[in-house]
Amino acid sequence: MKKADIRRIVEKNITDVKIIDIHTHLFPASFGELALWGPDELITYHYLIAEAIRATHINPSKFFGMGKAEQADFIFKELFINRSPISESCRGVLTTFSTLGINLDSMNLDDFRKFFSKITIKEYIDKVFDITGIEKVVMTNDPFDKTEVAYWVNDIEIDKRFISALRLDILLNDYQTARYELIKMGFEVGRSLNGIAKREIIRFLKENIKKTNAVYMAVSLPPDFKMPGKTIRNTLLEECVFEVAVELDIPVAFMIGVKRNVNPDLQLAGGSVGKSNIESIEYICQKYPKIKFMTTMLSRENQHELCVTARKFNNLYLFGCWWFLNNPVLIEEITRMRMELLGTSFLPQHSDARVFDQLIYKWKHSKKIISKVLIDKYEDLYDTGWPLDEETMKNDIVNLFGRSFYNFLKLKL
Ligand SMILES: [Zn+2]
Repeated sequence: MKKADIRRIVEKNITDVKIIDIHTHLFPASFGELALWGPDELITYHYLIAEAIRATHINPSKFFGMGKAEQADFIFKELFINRSPISESCRGVLTTFSTLGINLDSMNLDDFRKFFSKITIKEYIDKVFDITGIEKVVMTNDPFDKTEVAYWVNDIEIDKRFISALRLDILLNDYQTARYELIKMGFEVGRSLNGIAKREIIRFLKENIKKTNAVYMAVSLPPDFKMPGKTIRNTLLEECVFEVAVELDIPVAFMIGVKRNVNPDLQLAGGSVGKSNIESIEYICQKYPKIKFMTTMLSRENQHELCVTARKFNNLYLFGCWWFLNNPVLIEEITRMRMELLGTSFLPQHSDARVFDQLIYKWKHSKKIISKVLIDKYEDLYDTGWPLDEETMKNDIVNLFGRSFYNFLKLKL
């Protein structure tokens, strides 16, 4: 192999690779209104709402008083026409449209909407999976969301490309609400978190994992999350969630560092970031070597220590550049650092997509960056005199785009 071949081999294999997107908020078409798609959903996503309210100083209540299409028109006019759409969220919208073959010359949102009026959601999902090379997406399934739960009827048949993960946010971050809901569902959880209540919560978790066929349990946590320590959340984790994780051999995913409602006026767009406590991860990985912990952290400041911690514990699986880290400058920095510290034993990216259209730009932008970093790394290897092998490089890429997740879970593709 010549040095000049490296670029061609990496780019070809990254173009062809089948992606397993291990964390999204997507739902199959059979979940009706929960399956979000199209320009109005894409443009009114909370990333863009925050940017539009900031840029225009519009009163948030006035903004949220508008209908969805009106909000999309407002954001498009303000962020795409009156200003150059250079932020990553804005650029993402344009990448999505252009990749779908929409001509952007008219700069007219109604023209772009016409493309979507001629296609059904089922056709659109197929198209998006085809364009991006996505083979499977993992959903985030909330057992306390009544709209969602209504779709999980007994004989439900789920599109095989959609895999389930059980969301524990309400249980672990708002136990009083969870308790109230659990009682309504027939679980015996009294005022105190006693032995009976813990057994009932374990039963609840196991029933939901079975019902949804979940491949992991997941929770997003605030920056002040700390273990060990006497909190309801920690009791629930150590005496319920971890019990289930060991018994069913199912991983637990921690997404740490989100501060909800820093500005409540912005609703969903009001979430922010804070630096988290790495010792909590060291504690759980050390104390529970049988449990597989998937972890991503939201703050840039946590990334280096998280990489180092992953070197120490092979039950810790790092994944993705989450939310505010999903920007080219940070994806590149984090991916380089992870590769230098962990080789290929991590998953560089997940999309976190809530709207199908987001899969297109998030994967297109990330593939370009991961490709750039890999080319650099292989060129450095080449310079040592090591004989690179195309099959091994291909295998690295397949692992980095999802196979390693399957291996970690010991699942078959
Ligand atoms: Zn998410």
